[in-house]
Amino acid sequence: MAGERFPAALIFGVPGAGKGTQGEILARIPGFFHCSSGVIFRSMDQDSEDGQLVRDYSSRGELVPDDVTIRIWRAWLDAQRSIGRYIPRKHLLLLDGIPRTRGQCEILGEHVDVKAIVHLVCNDERAMIERIRRRAMLEDRPDDLSEEVTRRRFDVYRKETAPVLDFYPNEIIGNVESTGLVAEVLMETLQYLVPVLKSRATTK
Ligand code: AMP
Repeated sequence: MAGERFPAALIFGVPGAGKGTQGEILARIPGFFHCSSGVIFRSMDQDSEDGQLVRDYSSRGELVPDDVTIRIWRAWLDAQRSIGRYIPRKHLLLLDGIPRTRGQCEILGEHVDVKAIVHLVCNDERAMIERIRRRAMLEDRPDDLSEEVTRRRFDVYRKETAPVLDFYPNEIIGNVESTGLVAEVLMETLQYLVPVLKSRATTK
C-alpha cells in the first residue's frame, strides 16, 4: 500500500554482538515480529539470480547493494504479511541486520517508521570473532569460518554500518552492553522496547 510505514525498532550492533540471539527470543513475545536480513538471505534459493548475487557478496564479507537488499527484504515482508504471519497493526517490526548503510536508512524510511534502536555495544573485537567462529560451526555458516572474511565484516561495519547511528535522533537510541548474560542483555533490551509496545497499544 503506498505511503504505509510500518512501526519498527532496530536491533543494531557489530557482527557477533548477539543481535540474532536477542531477536529470536524477542520473536516469541507477542507484539514483536523479528526480521533478520541475514536469515532472509540465507533462506534464499541459492540457484536463483538474486540468491547467487547475495552469495557473491556475503561470501566475501561485503554488503549486498542497497537496492537489492531492500527489494528482497520488502518482498519477504510482503510475503509474511500475505500469509498472515506479520500483521502490521499488531506487530512492532524488529529489524535485525538492516539497515546497514546510510543509503538503506534513506530507502527504508519510505517503508518503516523507526521508533527505537537497541545498540548492542561490545568493544572486545577478539571476543566477537571467537563468538562468530563458534556460531559458524553450530549454524553451518561456512563464510564465518574464515577469519579473513570475518575481519572484512568488521571493517565494513566500521566504515559503512556504524554511521547508521548518526542517521537517527540520539533520543531513540539505547546502548546495551552485549557481553553480559543473554538474560541480562534481554532485560535491558526490553527496557527500551516495552515502552514502544505500550505506546502502540494505548494509541489503538
Ligand atoms: P548477517 O547474518 O546479518 O551477519 O548477514 C550475513 C551477510 O549477509 C552479511 O555479511 C552481508 O553480506 C549480507 N547482509 C545481511 N544484511 C545485509 C544488509 N542489510 N545489507 C547488505 N548486506 C547484508
